[in-house]
Amino acid sequence: MSEKRHITLIPGDGIGPEVTAAACAIVEAAGVAVQWDVQPAGLAAQQASGQALGPAVFDSIGRTGLALKGPTGTPFGTPYRIEVGPHAMNPVAQPRVYPSVAIALRKEFDLFMNLRPVRSFPSVPSRYQDVDLLIFRENSEDLYLGRERMIDTDTAEAVKVITRGATERAARYACDLMTKLGRRKLAIAHKSNVLKLTDGLFLRSAQAIAAQYPQLEVRDRVIDALCMELVLAPERYDGLLLANLYGDIVSDLCAGLVGGLGLAPGANIGERCAIFEAVHGTAPDIAGRDIANPTAMILSAVMLLRHVGELDAAQRIEAALTTVLARRDRLTPDLGGSGGTRAMAAAIIEAL
Ligand code: NAD
Repeated sequence: MSEKRHITLIPGDGIGPEVTAAACAIVEAAGVAVQWDVQPAGLAAQQASGQALGPAVFDSIGRTGLALKGPTGTPFGTPYRIEVGPHAMNPVAQPRVYPSVAIALRKEFDLFMNLRPVRSFPSVPSRYQDVDLLIFRENSEDLYLGRERMIDTDTAEAVKVITRGATERAARYACDLMTKLGRRKLAIAHKSNVLKLTDGLFLRSAQAIAAQYPQLEVRDRVIDALCMELVLAPERYDGLLLANLYGDIVSDLCAGLVGGLGLAPGANIGERCAIFEAVHGTAPDIAGRDIANPTAMILSAVMLLRHVGELDAAQRIEAALTTVLARRDRLTPDLGGSGGTRAMAAAIIEAL
């Protein structure tokens, strides 16, 4: 019997435990032998143990090199910081502070690329039927470093950091993957008419790398115009390369083009580790009611399986999911159904 594959599982907060349970059951039903190393992180973990992100999570991902992660909650608009002390991956480092668990994990494991595919499902009602986009979001800097401060009680500022190195690394990843997948049209998004230094550097650095790929048709687009074009005619785009904040916002916009956040998966990719998580958050408005759409998390697990070469299982899960979406009898409310998370997962397992 083949050895089990070790994967860290972070159930997370809100709908996280519900959608990750569905995804794990489906991966196992597809015949992939997995030993899940379950690691609490997020607000629930903080309440239970006092730590939102403890050293055990780093040890686990350091060992497995792979994680399936549910969303983790971050309070809105109130001071909140994740402090990361020494851990097995970085035993001597000074404590570091991050604005959220997700950002802490991305930074500590140097997960420089957030890859977010957005694709229409023929059977899911939405305004568009032919969206097929790859979003490449630079994942390590920009405003997400969380360098904010109050200058006085009525004035706050945040620092936006863009470096040539991080932009080039993200651009090279995007161009390589576009080439490998036979995609041709890459748009680089920016706002360099206003943010002349930061977005100017992002644009120039990305263009310099893209110029080394003559097979790609590379355009640059001001971020506001890009949003308008994506809503008018998303089929014009094949791949989008964006800095961290624009990438986050445009990901949700693009999820909306194909039917909503319940359908949009993602991967955080580094040289040594990768963490797979849906675009969506903890969805507190629907948490604990068994109505969250598990598709985004299932597709994130499919990306994980492809990443480790489990191509057959990945393909079969995707086919079973497509069957269930097309049959429409056990879908969650966001897709117009009256079913639940568990019933949808069970239907996918039956279809497998
Ligand atoms: P959200 O993505 O949680 O929810 C936005 C809307 O989409 C809500 O109406 C929600 O019900 C709906 N939705 C999201 N996922 C869905 C699903 N699978 N099925 C059906 N409907 C779904 O965004 P938010 O409300 O801005 O954020 C809530 C919390 O999540 C915040 O604490 C935020 O910091 C956190 N968050 C975490 C991550 C992460 O861990 N990577 C990402 C985004 C947001």
